[in-house]
Amino acid sequence: MAKISFDRDFEPAYGKAVQVSPLVRRLTCNNPSAFTFTGTGSYIVGTGNVAVIDPGPDDDQHLEAILAAVDGETVSHIIITHTHRDHSPLAARLQALTGAKTYGYGPHGAGRRARAIAAGDVQLDASGDMKFDPDVNVRNGDVIEGTGWRLEALFTPGHCSNHLAFGLPEENALFCGDHVMAWSTSVIAPPDGNMADYFASLDRLMQRSDETYWPGHGPAKQDPLPFVRAFKTHRRMREEAIFKRLKLGDRTIMEVVRAVYADVDQRLHPAAAMSTLAHVEHLIEQERVATDGDLTLSAEYRVK
Ligand SMILES: [Zn+2]
Repeated sequence: MAKISFDRDFEPAYGKAVQVSPLVRRLTCNNPSAFTFTGTGSYIVGTGNVAVIDPGPDDDQHLEAILAAVDGETVSHIIITHTHRDHSPLAARLQALTGAKTYGYGPHGAGRRARAIAAGDVQLDASGDMKFDPDVNVRNGDVIEGTGWRLEALFTPGHCSNHLAFGLPEENALFCGDHVMAWSTSVIAPPDGNMADYFASLDRLMQRSDETYWPGHGPAKQDPLPFVRAFKTHRRMREEAIFKRLKLGDRTIMEVVRAVYADVDQRLHPAAAMSTLAHVEHLIEQERVATDGDLTLSAEYRVK
């Protein structure tokens, strides 16, 4: 496999807003896990009148920390990159306390396009926040303007069907949510996650010239484009490895996972199964693989 060099060197400084650039403060929530790394990064953009990007999970301490960080300032915008439970739920309480409007692509599932095949027993949508519904529906190219800052929306589905990234032209930076992160690859879990979308969204990043990415978890990525290219190569190679296993006679997702992800911690195999399923869905869309029923973890797949 192509090796991507990940950066896991990160001090979360829980409860403290860290000034990471002239316009940006980062506040990390104390919700570490195998999927959130050291926790969710909430970003405060501007000074005086500020936007909060991804307030985070419904967490009392994190809400208090956000309010303390913006003490004496006005929160004018609450902006959501995507509706996973570690990003959007706190928007409701922050809105109740500040009166700021919420911005996002739409409710969970809003970006799903028509699928080639139905998704069956796939349960990972448990990670979705089903309650969030933004006041303002943001589309690709929309501009959100505040006092002394301006954010440009970039529709980047794949990890989540309603995923947005936000460019900050004043600093040539991009808030990229969980689309691309310095510490790890992104989980693509059907039915809401989609591999074809993910590839297209990586291409969308490569048409830009951002110098800094501020991801939803972990450290910033400087000079990110070679990294984005490496992600694409990594996924392509993964997909070919999965195709090869099916060609060799593997029939189920778990058979493929045990072979292709042999070097990965077994606790991450359920997530790897989701990414494998997403690749198999992509292979079916390309008419390279077939199945008789729905897209499920227990279905049998074969090379066409
Ligand atoms: Zn996340």
